[in-house]
Amino acid sequence: RLYNEVIELKGNIRVFCRCRPLNQAEIANGCASVAEFDPSQENELQILSSDSSKKHFKFDHVFKPEDGQETVFAQTKPIVTSVLDGYNVCIFAYGQTGTGKTFTMEGTPDNRGVNYRTLEELFRCSESRSHLMKFELSVSMLEVYNEKIRDLLVDNSNQPPKKLEVKQSAEGTQEVPGLVEAQVYNTDGVWDLLKKGYCVRSVGSTAANEQSSRSHCLLRVTVKGENLINGQRTRSHLWLVDLAGSERVGKVEVEGERLKESQFINKSLSALGDVISALASKTSHIPYRNSKLTHMLQNSLGGDCKTLMFVQISPSSADQGETLCSLNFASRVR
Ligand code: ADP
Ligand code: MG
Repeated sequence: RLYNEVIELKGNIRVFCRCRPLNQAEIANGCASVAEFDPSQENELQILSSDSSKKHFKFDHVFKPEDGQETVFAQTKPIVTSVLDGYNVCIFAYGQTGTGKTFTMEGTPDNRGVNYRTLEELFRCSESRSHLMKFELSVSMLEVYNEKIRDLLVDNSNQPPKKLEVKQSAEGTQEVPGLVEAQVYNTDGVWDLLKKGYCVRSVGSTAANEQSSRSHCLLRVTVKGENLINGQRTRSHLWLVDLAGSERVGKVEVEGERLKESQFINKSLSALGDVISALASKTSHIPYRNSKLTHMLQNSLGGDCKTLMFVQISPSSADQGETLCSLNFASRVR
């Protein structure tokens, strides 16, 4: 590795917490904010309980409601660019539906998120290293819904989707044969490509938001590097994952299709939590095979891979229960 940008890390797993602002409806309904931030502590927050006690949490960084996409990306940048040094990287957005997972990863056209900013930064960095390294970047997008993998860069609206599976290659790495890998050359067209994938994600469902909250959406950036001095070649993956909503499903909903969905979501989110906490505690057995998600990400979780989890929360008093669940989950993986 030619470049060893110094990232100060206690191990390779980091957790950032991001709290969205109270929205209009919450303000109109008289919901108060239960999230408190100490201006002098960039990595702590407190959640007020109904009995007016406070629960204290500490992460690698805490983003307050007023922190914008740029501020978030400034902290994320060193992790994503390490893919150019040959590291595999995974970034997850975890949390209850409506807390800003998609806002953080995808963003909006005027306020783009980590996914687009990452590609922009990778182009910029690869350009600045072009006298030493030649880089080739490609992008894949896929969705995991009810333990089935769907390619989001293939428009399946007129035919049944092709089934994708995780297979082990001869080299022992986990691959998804048949997954589209679209080569990208510069930022032109990247936003359109991402938009196409986001759009396919919601096609075929009557309520787009419903479906997206129940599936995991993964953007994979493959970086092929060639050292122009010694000819050494590298191939590494960066995964940017917008996870399914972590909320517990209400009793009334729990039947039929919904029951199946929430069982699959619980299974894959707890499998992910188990894998990350096993990695953090340096246990020898890492249970990757317990879900499609962790199995697919096996080569990018653990070893000298870098992992970042955004735990997304709502500040609203109405969401306090789910907020505490998410923060406890995130504390467990750190
Ligand atoms: P999720 O993907 O977790 O279900 P979304 O990303 O769809 O949540 O966010 C729900 C709503 O809140 C969206 O309208 C989004 O634009 C808004 N939102 C989320 N986070 C922020 C933030 N940090 N600042 C401003 N608006 C936000
Ligand atoms: Mg979403």
